Amino acid sequence: MDSNKNLKKFCRFSVDARTYSGAVRGNMVDIVEGDLFGDLSDIRMSFPVDHVKFLPPIMPTKIWCVGVNYMGHMREMGHEPPKEPLIFMKPRTTVVGSGDPVRIPEWAGRVDYEGELAAVIGKRCRNVSEFEALSFVKGYTCYNDVTARDLQTDNHWIRAKGFDTFGPLGPSILVTEKMPDETKITTRLNGSVMQQDTLASMIFPVRQIISYISRFATLEPGDVIATGTPAGIGRVKPGDRVEVEIEGIGSLINPFISD
Ligand code: MG
Repeated sequence: MDSNKNLKKFCRFSVDARTYSGAVRGNMVDIVEGDLFGDLSDIRMSFPVDHVKFLPPIMPTKIWCVGVNYMGHMREMGHEPPKEPLIFMKPRTTVVGSGDPVRIPEWAGRVDYEGELAAVIGKRCRNVSEFEALSFVKGYTCYNDVTARDLQTDNHWIRAKGFDTFGPLGPSILVTEKMPDETKITTRLNGSVMQQDTLASMIFPVRQIISYISRFATLEPGDVIATGTPAGIGRVKPGDRVEVEIEGIGSLINPFISD
């Protein structure tokens, strides 16, 4: 793992119909060989960020999500403070990368963006304490928990949250065990700021969410945990463009189109 030491932002991308693993370095992407969980070595070839198509940085093993995890969002939804994390899942077929379109069928009704921080699990774990939880994290990326709000009437939310393309992920994974509490998360709709908060506003911090899930399920390398959205959710329509930006990671940008 020593060769990972200098790796800051892992990504996957394509150029000229070829697919690579990469490391984002400023406005450049370097090709790296290997995989996120093993040894990675740099290859001395890089491309300007503008010239590459980002792919999802990882195809998740499982996608866990936390509902109602920021005080502001809790209030705007009229929820009571949760006593424990509210966990749900999304299918892997929701995953798309930065730049990929999110497809909205007309019958889905109102569809909302939800900008979120996603943690990527690096090591298998079960029954871990909050104290040790972050040592199982590989890194963090941006997530958009796209939701068909009108259909969120099923208890399990699977249909409302589970449409194909309703889980944009990326553009890169910042390799670190912990994000600073003061890290800013911002969601823009067609360039206007709609959501802005810091990770300090989470009701249940990442370490607590991991410990909670690990009490009933094994977390595996490649599991992604979306950690909830701040206040300011809103509707997105075909033709709109949503950007989820997290300091230190980058911007996840997706156009929305009708399906
Ligand atoms: Mg959400």
